[in-house]
Amino acid sequence: MKMKGEKVHKYDAIVIGTGVAGLYQLHLLRKLGLSVKAFEKGTDVGGTWYWNRYPGCRFDSESYTYQYSFSDELLEDWNWSEHFAPQPETLKYMQHVADRFDLRAHIEFSTAITSAKYQAAENKWEVQTDKQTTYSCQFLITALGILSEPYIPNIAGIDNFKGRAWHTSNWPKEKVKTTGKKIGVIGTGATGVQLITELAKDVEELYVFQLKPEYCIPLHNDKIDETTQKEIKKNQDKIFEQCNNSYGSFLHDFKYDKSALEVSKEERNAFYEKLWNERGFALWLGNYSDLLTDEDANHTISEFVRDKIRSQVDDPVIAEKLCPKDHGFGTRRVPCESGYYKAYNQPNVHLIDISETPIDCINELGIKTTAEQYDLDIIVFATGFDGVTGAYNKVNIVGEDGTNLSDEWKEGPETYLGMQTPGFPNLFTVCGPHNGSTFCNIPRCLEQNVEWISDCLSYINNNGFSKIEAELDAAKEWTDYAYEVAAPSLFAKTASWFSGANIPGKKRTFLSWAGGSPKYREKCNDVASTGYKGFKLT
Ligand code: NAP
Repeated sequence: MKMKGEKVHKYDAIVIGTGVAGLYQLHLLRKLGLSVKAFEKGTDVGGTWYWNRYPGCRFDSESYTYQYSFSDELLEDWNWSEHFAPQPETLKYMQHVADRFDLRAHIEFSTAITSAKYQAAENKWEVQTDKQTTYSCQFLITALGILSEPYIPNIAGIDNFKGRAWHTSNWPKEKVKTTGKKIGVIGTGATGVQLITELAKDVEELYVFQLKPEYCIPLHNDKIDETTQKEIKKNQDKIFEQCNNSYGSFLHDFKYDKSALEVSKEERNAFYEKLWNERGFALWLGNYSDLLTDEDANHTISEFVRDKIRSQVDDPVIAEKLCPKDHGFGTRRVPCESGYYKAYNQPNVHLIDISETPIDCINELGIKTTAEQYDLDIIVFATGFDGVTGAYNKVNIVGEDGTNLSDEWKEGPETYLGMQTPGFPNLFTVCGPHNGSTFCNIPRCLEQNVEWISDCLSYINNNGFSKIEAELDAAKEWTDYAYEVAAPSLFAKTASWFSGANIPGKKRTFLSWAGGSPKYREKCNDVASTGYKGFKLT
């Protein structure tokens, strides 16, 4: 609440977060000539790439597909060193963008937004920070990130541990000495896989506490040599175009012309083998499209990958524990690996199957399972995030009729294009529930979101409007459509953060967008070109 006599700082727009989306949104709104301020909880820009500094953290998207596309000069003067750049390089890139476009002066760092309340009488948002300062703006844009709210399971005795412990997204900024240490990692998703591979190289003992294994595919990372660098620069427009035309905005796209089941086993396996040897997500997103909709087709690729896992791990018992059996390949986010399975052949790496012997508690010395005590120096929680909606629980966003946005979304969000929720005028949620960015090579879709929002604000200002609000019917229709396009896909049926199934007590409902990037873009363009149909402009 604003205190009596307190100075209120007024802006046309406020952006929350300075990750990939927030930074670009700030830049574009400034270019529109609006007065804009961005708020950032961290001490620097970068979002995901600021917080996730755990060893091994890097892109799973090809670097040249992940970068911003909006500036030829930026594309020209930035050279990625590897096909899949490591986190420190990406953070430097984000810092470079902030400096190059002179954005830092408009960002308040180390400042979290605690509440935002719509004031109907003035058609303004009143925004409060954790520094007890109050701001007012006409347009509020949340760029909070879909994987920014860490999840740590409620394990008995968690506070009793006398060593050091943290979530992967809170890996300390100062160098952590891991050599010669006994480290326990809980969680084996995309984050755990990268971290475990890196830690295995120098820790004394590494204990991996695995609930369910994932199907990991080889990343095939490499340095980018000079010739390739030139080729990339020459073809950069084509690279972006190829991404924008593909289902997930990656270089890889599904093979729609054939079913995995209509070819011979030999032809199918030869194709799988070819993709296995290609970079990044080729095997996942460049494969027969029915692998992600047909259980029989999916079985063929799941078995192929399980065999690949078995072939890399010396101990057949460990190999079997590393083979997923409860879900099909690609029905959860596929981690890319660079030596993960082979790490289990080392004498210092131990797989603890906590589906067989669950964690009983954490105590002063380490982790105790129902079978054994593991004494540890460090515990790392690679236990994931409260995806898509989680970050909104930390900001009290209150709409026109006094409803809190998180409460509104609790039983299953209804948004229009994942950008607006009825009852919350002039609030844009970049990468909100059922937004195209939720299943996408994310910068490709974030750029689209940000540009769409900027165009929309421009339209509002140029046409004498001051208020935009999603209509109830449009939001309902969009939500139904998002569920309809997700229905045939196996990943909508599989428990993961895409459906909130990883968070105890969270309503299980598919929060992502399974219709593919091109369809999402088309719908957004259609809405914009018809004077923002489905939105009420006043
Ligand atoms: P995640 O995929 O949700 O994995 C969390 C892990 O923690 C899972 O292995 C899970 O086991 C385990 N876990 C959860 N609760 C547990 C409990 N109570 N006890 C023991 N284990 C528990 O999270 P993530 O690995 O952080 O990845 C999240 C997302 O971040 C990815 O899907 C991806 O989109 C993104 N990411 C991207 C990159 C990249 O682009 N390079 C890298 C890393 C992450 P169960 O699965 O059995 O529940």
